[in-house]
Amino acid sequence: MSASADTVGLVTDHITHATNGNGAGPAHVRIAIVGAGFAGLGMAIRLKEAGIEDFVVLERAEDLGGTWQANTYPGCQCDVPSHLYSFSFEPNPGWTRTYSRQPEIWAYLRNVAKRRGLAPHLRFGHELTGATWDEQTRRWHVETSRGSLTAALVIDATGPLSHPSTPRIRGLDRFEGKLFHSAQWDHEHDLEGERVAVIGTGASSIQFVPRIQPKVGAMHVFQRTAPWILPHSDRPTTRIERQLYRAVPLIQRAVRAMVYCGREALVVGFAKRPSVAKPVERLARMHLRHQVRDRELRRKLEPDFRLGCKRVLISNEWYPALTKPNVELVTESIAAIEGREIVLADGSRREVDTIILGTGFHVTDPPTAWLVRGREGKTLAEAAGASPQAYLGTAMAGFPNLFRIIGPNTGLGHSSMIYMIESQLTYLMDAIRQMDEREIGSIEVRPETVEKFNAEIQGMMAGTVWASGCSSWYLDASGRNSTLWPDFTFRFRQRLRHFDADAYELRTRVAEPAGVA
Ligand SMILES: Cc1cc2nc3c(=O)[nH]c(=O)nc-3n(C[C@H](O)[C@H](O)[C@H](O)COP(=O)(O)OP(=O)(O)OC[C@H]3O[C@@H](n4cnc5c(N)ncnc54)[C@H](O)[C@@H]3O)c2cc1C
Repeated sequence: MSASADTVGLVTDHITHATNGNGAGPAHVRIAIVGAGFAGLGMAIRLKEAGIEDFVVLERAEDLGGTWQANTYPGCQCDVPSHLYSFSFEPNPGWTRTYSRQPEIWAYLRNVAKRRGLAPHLRFGHELTGATWDEQTRRWHVETSRGSLTAALVIDATGPLSHPSTPRIRGLDRFEGKLFHSAQWDHEHDLEGERVAVIGTGASSIQFVPRIQPKVGAMHVFQRTAPWILPHSDRPTTRIERQLYRAVPLIQRAVRAMVYCGREALVVGFAKRPSVAKPVERLARMHLRHQVRDRELRRKLEPDFRLGCKRVLISNEWYPALTKPNVELVTESIAAIEGREIVLADGSRREVDTIILGTGFHVTDPPTAWLVRGREGKTLAEAAGASPQAYLGTAMAGFPNLFRIIGPNTGLGHSSMIYMIESQLTYLMDAIRQMDEREIGSIEVRPETVEKFNAEIQGMMAGTVWASGCSSWYLDASGRNSTLWPDFTFRFRQRLRHFDADAYELRTRVAEPAGVA
């Protein structure tokens, strides 16, 4: 995947080569970051800025970029304007579109990593397979697919949307055609003229369906719930804009601030006064009426829940794609897969060559939660039960010196996750600074602090649109919304401005164990 000429895109070959042959890495590091997406890379940058070099970034993939390395499906693009969906400390005046596409975001991240000299710290092909806290040495024993190491601190930056979710459909594993998930797009497989089934109508599907519709022979799109779709304002940026941002960076910062404020205003409609969202619902209905003339199809596409309860999507191409003669929108539920046929609840069948899963990710039940064992020997999943909880979305009781970036209740339905990530980075850097200054060996959030915080969060959630009764991937197995931050994002930032040591149990350092370098 190459960067367009106008991006800051530089290739990362040298990062890959410089780090891949490194074997297990050092026996002991001060900090092990797991995941090389926006969060892991941001953490690495902050550490280097503070003069801390004793850390590694363990990444299961063979390249950096996280979401933007994995999701290469046709049409993949961010749905928050790029001036905001990027690091505040690494503005890119060269964005070629207002909402960048995956290759450009990926190129941006690789270029940032190169410019910031992250290569020596990156360990590609190192999948975390286990981590256990050792109370005696006050260290984490970290197992990876390429060897083990110990670390004083572990930063879990494995991302909320990095483990593709496969729906439980009888016979799916025995489907006789081609099957893949949108986050694992098979570019070798030619869809030309094929009969294709797309399962799911979420954020990814609405981006790739219009791209593949012209080439496939027939497409059956299986929809469980019709999403709210708003018109997209994406456009190419002009040369003058880009020159202006390069010449006067302050202007780009002002645009970023304006985008931020515009997005934040949506919180009023989602979380404070739902009636404010009514005009936006009207706009979405007009968009549907304007783009879909067929009454029957329009009826199927009418959302039956309040705008915002599930993620609001933006597209000018989704509805038109569904009106094309080679596309069928199926709202009947899938009962089973038999051979190459999809059997529906009403008994009808669709024979297809390829099934593409646009079925999202394990958000509230990531497999990594089963890999990390804390002070009492429990895994994160066992400790959390059906509903993950963390103080400030960052620290879990029973798991000393382990921090999660984009943990529970830090997700957003309206703005840039990079803003949340950067807020957490500030907090973590202050924690590390205080640990140094006060010679603290381990820190562990107090259970009562986590409990109080979560009671507060769930209390705030109560009156919001996210609690208005739809079923969404924001909800965990217990039915609680443990995904979203239910308030203005600047309030999140305020709370994470300083590390509040009194919310934590602090333990002193222990002497270096003999024989560990
Ligand atoms: C298609 C798509 C579009 C999106 N668009 C937007 C948007 O417009 N705006 C927005 O705010 N957010 C968007 N998001 C959410 C997006 O995930 C976040 O914005 C952000 O990229 C998360 O960064 P991260 O570093 O936390 O996680 P990721 O980017 O997911 O990175 C996590 C990394 O951890 C690695 N990893 C996972 N498990 C292990 C393991 N066991 N061992 C080692 N490594 C591991 C993964 O390989 C991955 O590289 C989008 C998500 C998707 C999937």
